[in-house]
Amino acid sequence: MLQIEHSVQEKHNPDDFPDFSIRKIYGTVCSMYEFAVTPAVTNIRRRGVEIYDVAPDSLGAEMDLESGDRIIKVNGRVVRDYLDFRFQTAGETELVLEVRKKSGEDWEVELERAEGEDFGLSFEQIVPRQCANECIFCFCNGNPADARPSLFIKDEDIRLSFLYGNYTTLTSITEDEIRRIVEQRLSPQYVSVHATDLDVRAYMLGVDKQRADISTKLARLLDATIEVHAQVVLCPEINDREILKKTIFELAAEYPRITSVAIVPLGLTRYNTDARLTRVTPEFCREVIDQVSEIQKELKSKLGTNFALLGDEIYLRAERRIPARSHYGDYPQIEDGVGMVRSFANEFTKLMQRLEREGWTSVKQTSGTIFTGTLFAPVLKKMIEKFNARFGTRLIVEALENSYFGGDVSVAGLLTGQDLLRARERVAGEFVCIPKQMLKSDDAIMLDGMNVNEVSRALGQPVHAINLQELVSLLT
Ligand code: SF4
Repeated sequence: MLQIEHSVQEKHNPDDFPDFSIRKIYGTVCSMYEFAVTPAVTNIRRRGVEIYDVAPDSLGAEMDLESGDRIIKVNGRVVRDYLDFRFQTAGETELVLEVRKKSGEDWEVELERAEGEDFGLSFEQIVPRQCANECIFCFCNGNPADARPSLFIKDEDIRLSFLYGNYTTLTSITEDEIRRIVEQRLSPQYVSVHATDLDVRAYMLGVDKQRADISTKLARLLDATIEVHAQVVLCPEINDREILKKTIFELAAEYPRITSVAIVPLGLTRYNTDARLTRVTPEFCREVIDQVSEIQKELKSKLGTNFALLGDEIYLRAERRIPARSHYGDYPQIEDGVGMVRSFANEFTKLMQRLEREGWTSVKQTSGTIFTGTLFAPVLKKMIEKFNARFGTRLIVEALENSYFGGDVSVAGLLTGQDLLRARERVAGEFVCIPKQMLKSDDAIMLDGMNVNEVSRALGQPVHAINLQELVSLLT
């Protein structure tokens, strides 16, 4: 049964917390897949974690907690963010919360709750720690100067790695963070290794060898049975060929403690002018596939897993077949674009089969234009042609060039509103579909700041950011 006791403590000195503004900016840029998080950035670290919302009739509401209050401690232990709150309240039925009300009062709230009873609280987003590296391929260097500020955030945060699969290099991980990963079981962790050769790693990260050497830190995580997935951003002439082979085998030597390594190609926009970088070509991708396929065979026979998985982009650029479902195991790094195409293709086949079984027919809006990135467009086109032939729809797939970033950026997630407007002549039918990844996770806004309604008005067509299943609903 819930029991709550409030005691109001002395009001805090207003000087404790000067008036500061929190700049909410969105997105993370350590990887190409920007919309995994919506972090807040502030220059001043405040104590505790701020309550964003309290569900009506919840435990939090009964405790008179409100949006804007901050939970400072749980059972005498400091709360730094909502992960701490979750960790420190897990399994506890008797709790003492120290709360700083938004009015400035300090409350001590004692409560008893049933096991597993939810508080009904949602919290502010985690403020990401930023990296101290100068990676030669950093995506921040490839942004247009006027790109929105969120695209310049160099996040390197073990909490976001655990929560969203963002990669960290572990170069600046603190002792406190290592302990926290272990104590709170923030597992798995996603680590950008790039090369196990220390000279090459230091060169790629733009740091000295001492900082680049993460062997001790990694060993501590692995010894504590924290699951680690590694990543290699493959840069021609830098960490390819023998360096890549060495990297894969040295990481595989830690299997199953290191579970997988994703190998994704360097992506350069037109703004990357660093002479040390060589663009990825189709020929390079074919060489990589040939080399890594041999390694995969060897590892499969030794470990029972391919372990080293190539990003979809490498197969698409090479114009080679995407591997079968079984190649990817349980898709350990799908969010990094490793197995996404195979997963999509299989989902598409299942959807077609289900619709056939159900005798589905499209009843409205049978014609529309689906925009996607240039790399995926030919694959999607084939699928949609089958769909049209089977169900009588008239859907058209159009490859959208990325003129905002330029270079060899061809993935759907980095397309912008301006790119869509440039393609207005190619819009046909009654609606436009775009991939969901073009939008921020929590808002209908694109990377260049345009929102879906603006684009809709400019194109004179409704624009839907949808997935496969939603496309079917649109047609039904
Ligand atoms: S400098 Fe390196 S680690 Fe830091 S954000 Fe850029 S790519 Fe990521």
